[in-house]
Amino acid sequence: MADRKLCDSCGSVMWPSEYTQCSIQATVVSRYGDSSSRDFTIDLCRLCDIKVATALYSALPHLAMAIEPKVIVLCGSSRFVDIMAAVAWMIERDEAAITMGLHLLPQWYTDVKDHLAEAEGVADAMDELHLRKIDLADEIFVINMNGYIGESTSREIQYAKNRGIGIRYFENESHFAEQILEKIRLQ
Ligand SMILES: [Zn+2]
Repeated sequence: MADRKLCDSCGSVMWPSEYTQCSIQATVVSRYGDSSSRDFTIDLCRLCDIKVATALYSALPHLAMAIEPKVIVLCGSSRFVDIMAAVAWMIERDEAAITMGLHLLPQWYTDVKDHLAEAEGVADAMDELHLRKIDLADEIFVINMNGYIGESTSREIQYAKNRGIGIRYFENESHFAEQILEKIRLQ
């Protein structure tokens, strides 16, 4: 079974003697409408034609997905806004995904430590806008530092669940905490 492959064009199961590995160049259109030419290595059965496979590849939405960055929305209490900023940086750096979340503002902006949206009277509007960010997301990443999940974050998790959006948790992905806590210790 381990030696068998699926034909990348018709999907039929092939033994090693039955397939040919080919390099193709297909035009992939991203969800933003821009197209680019990409190289792929595919396995073809003897019945499938490379030109047909190339045309088919150009039309496959999952290929466009594969070359587009994921959109990940960070959710969590504003008391963790510094952790969120570090996680957003690490995700963009290490996963080449686009992140959205709360904003870590420079110190000169305000003396308010957290719950700035409440302090500026825009909490409801910001909660609503956060749901619109989740509408655009492939995944949410919950900053559940020490297991803490507040009321708006719970609502956002439920919202993402209802829409089949992937949910990740800070406390489940220890490499984030390890790197961040190490940096904090070194301060
Ligand atoms: Zn085939």
